[in-house]
Amino acid sequence: MVPPKKNFKWSYLIEASKCKNCATCWLECRDDAIYVEDNANYAIDQDKCQRCARCYNACPVEAIQRVPFEAAS
Ligand code: SF4
Ligand code: SF4
Repeated sequence: MVPPKKNFKWSYLIEASKCKNCATCWLECRDDAIYVEDNANYAIDQDKCQRCARCYNACPVEAIQRVPFEAAS
């Protein structure tokens, strides 16, 4: 049986136009939730993300947005 999805308060999204592809967020994430999408842009797997905010706090150019959970689902 598949466990029900957690109902987080926030989600984190990477804004591709601001991202400098530095990989800092990818190195910070302990849940393997950050990946390179279409061989070009860093992205966050919303199913793996535990909303710890490590990537959000580490991004040097503030390319990661915190949005209400429903907006990213
Ligand atoms: S830390 Fe910020 S700039 Fe660097 S890859 Fe992640 S989102 Fe992009
Ligand atoms: S919020 Fe935490 S778990 Fe989610 S992508 Fe960022 S570092 Fe990974």
